[in-house]
Amino acid sequence: MSATTLPGLFRSEEELSRLPASERIRYRLIGADCRYHANDNISAHIREGELEELKSEVAKQMQGVLKSLVIDTESDHNTNETAQRVAKMFVEEVFRGRYVPMPSVTEFPNFSRLNELMIVGPIKVRSACSHHLCPIIGRVWIGIMPNEFSNLIGLSKYARICDWVMSRPQIQEEAVTMLAEELQNRVKPDGLAIVMEADHFCMHWRGVKDDESVMTNSVMRGAFLRDANLRREFLSLMANKNRG
Ligand SMILES: [Zn+2]
Repeated sequence: MSATTLPGLFRSEEELSRLPASERIRYRLIGADCRYHANDNISAHIREGELEELKSEVAKQMQGVLKSLVIDTESDHNTNETAQRVAKMFVEEVFRGRYVPMPSVTEFPNFSRLNELMIVGPIKVRSACSHHLCPIIGRVWIGIMPNEFSNLIGLSKYARICDWVMSRPQIQEEAVTMLAEELQNRVKPDGLAIVMEADHFCMHWRGVKDDESVMTNSVMRGAFLRDANLRREFLSLMANKNRG
């Protein structure tokens, strides 16, 4: 990037306040040497009120996109508010997982020393591909093999963490790995298995390879890697839950 598009180094917050919110946030990210790819969470670098500013910026740019698509948003009442609606949808809904911190999760020590395979799912996944920003809709199954040092979290929390990771433009392989990292760090299980099966709408919508639109990915860690029986047990229980 050239010096004209990137604010100079060591700006004060007061100087930053004169820049658009996106520039301000980008400046802090670069200063902290943080990656800000489509599937990264950047909430630690966003200050109060800045999400509202981001939304207005996105709406303004979306209006430009509609203009370039030669859509008469003034006479066409259906598209009057489209730019604002899309901006709200991106920032507050479908890409929300980039902009807000992880939902708070209470961890409990494994008092009763559970050491049985635990399966959570199917959890509904709503994401978007980072290539076309088209929806990815699917399901996730999580297998946890706890040990006496694991932290247990409530069942509903798995779904909330999953939703937080998935509500970003994603690549399915990376999404599954990211979810595994988050769960591994929190739960610290002996083994962790994640399977994601999802429908990629860019395949349907663009009508290229319709039959290849469903993609399945998995991550196996610890005990699930070492123990083929445990892996089989997980996969067969998963298939049962699927039928039920
Ligand atoms: Zn795509």
